[in-house]
Amino acid sequence: MQWNVSELLKSTTGTERRYTVDDEERRYEEIATRVTGTVRLMKTDKSILTTVELDTAVWCSCSRCLSRFTHPLRLQFAEEFFPTIDLATGARLHDPLPEGAFTLNKRHTLDLGEAVRQYAVMKTPMKPLCTEACRGLCPTCGVNRNETACDCRTSTEDSRWAGLEALRGKLR
Ligand SMILES: [Zn+2]
Ligand SMILES: [Zn+2]
Repeated sequence: MQWNVSELLKSTTGTERRYTVDDEERRYEEIATRVTGTVRLMKTDKSILTTVELDTAVWCSCSRCLSRFTHPLRLQFAEEFFPTIDLATGARLHDPLPEGAFTLNKRHTLDLGEAVRQYAVMKTPMKPLCTEACRGLCPTCGVNRNETACDCRTSTEDSRWAGLEALRGKLR
């Protein structure tokens, strides 16, 4: 997900490039699968505007049974990438940039990786469930009740706290 945009920076405002993406993105531990889809790059007066439609998946830990699973995501966003080096002179540009703005590197390469990571993290569910019907961990003995039945009483059964209770059990 890296493109050299020096040619695009030289072209007139409104010029577009379209790319098909099918990349492994191993730099980020959050990203669990390949990243596929399309990216459009457009020259604006001050930047390269990216319009992104990508599919990938992130790693999640189930909030009930703590198992790891992958959660598919569709990422649709538009972000501007600003040059930091003047294309003609090679001098550093000092224009103030919007806070948190993405930038091109010294060689005028646009690297979409960090933007994809940020949007993926943003869209990762806060309380992910491996399945809607996940039965969680037994609060008494800590077994994963999706896999094993146990004979514990179920009076304190409250799956929201099952993970914590199981953890407490292990710490004792
Ligand atoms: Zn689960
Ligand atoms: Zn149990």
